[in-house]
Amino acid sequence: MVDYVIAPPAMIAVPVAGGGAFPVRRVFCVGRNYAAHAREMGSDPDREPPFFFMKPADALLSDGADMPYPPMSNDLHHEMEMVVALGSGGVDIPEAEALSHVWGYAAGLDMTRRDLQGAAKKEGKPWDMGKGFDYSAPIGLLVPAAKIGHPDRGLIELKVNGAVRQTSDLSNMIWSVPEMIAYLSRLVRLAPGDLIFSGTPENVAAVQRGDVLEGSVAGVGTVKTRIA
Ligand code: MN
Repeated sequence: MVDYVIAPPAMIAVPVAGGGAFPVRRVFCVGRNYAAHAREMGSDPDREPPFFFMKPADALLSDGADMPYPPMSNDLHHEMEMVVALGSGGVDIPEAEALSHVWGYAAGLDMTRRDLQGAAKKEGKPWDMGKGFDYSAPIGLLVPAAKIGHPDRGLIELKVNGAVRQTSDLSNMIWSVPEMIAYLSRLVRLAPGDLIFSGTPENVAAVQRGDVLEGSVAGVGTVKTRIA
């Protein structure tokens, strides 16, 4: 029994469809993983190696909860993504074994303070405050891979106030889920509880207070939030 000198923080967990909760360790995000989005952000999508950034686990926001409009920004953008949840981990995971480490999937939003991210990019500074702020990662219920398999194609879509804003297909990912797990496991030791936001398709755009965001990933599920 450790004698903690302050109350230990609560474990962050994502509810699982059908019951139970998935405890979260770390949240990784893949950048520019759909060619059309890479182009709209001004990059050449030609299969440059994948790159990763992180959000703190407590940036996760429960499905259906309001997302407070974040401070220090006037350009909050949506990025609709599929989220991969790891049930086991390791280093140097071979691509062929990568999916055996996936516990499940969810629909999620990588909400971004685009103005802060853009300023950081321009100055060669870290993206953290553009990406890893409070409530910046709304996430839907997790569904076990044991139930749905490992989706590698199918519609990924985001509606804002009922109108389609982002629409693409999971098969348009530049780096597949097995490839991103294999690559990331060469950079860090992956662990049970790690989440990977797998990148957004094109047509990211700003949202305003009062907007209702409803995202879906075919065969996986949905995510919903309202900007408050
Ligand atoms: Mn993203």
